[in-house]
Amino acid sequence: MKVLVINSGSSSIKYQLLDTETEAVMVNGLVERIGEEVGDLKNKAYPDTDDEAVTKLHQSIPDHTTGMRLAIDLICDPEKGVLKDKSEIDAIGHRVVHGGEAFNQPTLINDEVIAAIEACVPLAPLHNPANLDGIRVAMELFPEAPQVAVFDTAFHQTIPAHAYMYALPYELYEKDRVRRYGFHGTSHKFVAGELAAQIGKPADELNMITVHLGNGGSITAVEKGKSVDTTMGLTPLEGLVMGTRSGDVDPAVHAFLARNKGMSIEEIDTMLNKESGLKGLCGLNDMRDIHAAIEKGDERAEIALGVQTYRNRKYIGAYMAVLGNVDGIVFTAGIGENDDIVRYESVKGLECFGVKIDEAANANRAKEPMKISTDDSTVAVWVIPTNEELAIARETKEVITK
Ligand code: AMP
Repeated sequence: MKVLVINSGSSSIKYQLLDTETEAVMVNGLVERIGEEVGDLKNKAYPDTDDEAVTKLHQSIPDHTTGMRLAIDLICDPEKGVLKDKSEIDAIGHRVVHGGEAFNQPTLINDEVIAAIEACVPLAPLHNPANLDGIRVAMELFPEAPQVAVFDTAFHQTIPAHAYMYALPYELYEKDRVRRYGFHGTSHKFVAGELAAQIGKPADELNMITVHLGNGGSITAVEKGKSVDTTMGLTPLEGLVMGTRSGDVDPAVHAFLARNKGMSIEEIDTMLNKESGLKGLCGLNDMRDIHAAIEKGDERAEIALGVQTYRNRKYIGAYMAVLGNVDGIVFTAGIGENDDIVRYESVKGLECFGVKIDEAANANRAKEPMKISTDDSTVAVWVIPTNEELAIARETKEVITK
């Protein structure tokens, strides 16, 4: 089955065409700067030959429909295209950021589903409208193909009330659905499944802690294959120290800044999301730059690394308490897959809980799953590359073949 995976943002569309039989990527593409004077499109096709065919366009792309049409023309290009006709695409899988409490699994899209995604716009005002743009364009361009929404929040819908409720007036939950939702669910579910495969047991027999550390980051406690707690909350701001996001702060920081610095809610929101985290602490938001700065003796970069890894360790420890018995910990995403120092610092001192890192194994970098704990570690620690597109393609296939 050929599945086109679409991740539609406010001014961009990421897409990937996959063959779900072989799980091979056939096309990988990115449309950027939609709506700006000049837009960009990069389309990488993997024809039957070993070569890849890269096409770059630099032209006006006024809207998502134009962007998607250009991409489809390249996918079906008579010379370099991997398909002859768009009718060869069997299904479309859409990444949707917020499914609220309405969706606990990937769902076949119809008018009712679109209305329910729309109803979640107040919970994700930047993301859900952009995801809906992608859905509408794809429905127009592929009227025959089934379309499936795969939600970032769905995996976390098994989190119990004692972990998802905020201790706020209850009406806020009843009337406005203010609660913790969690994000990165597709990635957490994917790497939990891959870790279970590595350990050699079904996911529903294992307790795992999944650590997704990229530009955004979150950690999830997975009990018998189900999410029971995660670090992100109502929005993706809660929890870990991220590239530019603060993660947990005292909620009174809003009142303090408003009263003492005259900042508006908008200014505080922007500061917490875009000017905080690693960037706020040391001016750098890319972990590679932070290591380079530490090498040169930059003390603030060292503090930033310390604050980030301490927060990771604190949550890993908390989730060991939540789960009681932990079979495995898995690191994933840009930092989790590549940064042995962050990994080491994030589990340092947990030997008494059965976590023993093999430092030589941890120093490796691999595109494949790699075990970084010692053989006598009672908790298996792995690095497993995440692959949200493949996860969405698998889930899409599962929904339409059910
Ligand atoms: P992601 O959001 O998963 O694409 O992760 C992006 C982040 O991963 C970047 O902002 C970097 O901080 C981090 N990253 C990527 N490559 C490396 C690397 N080789 N070493 C350390 N951090 C990395």
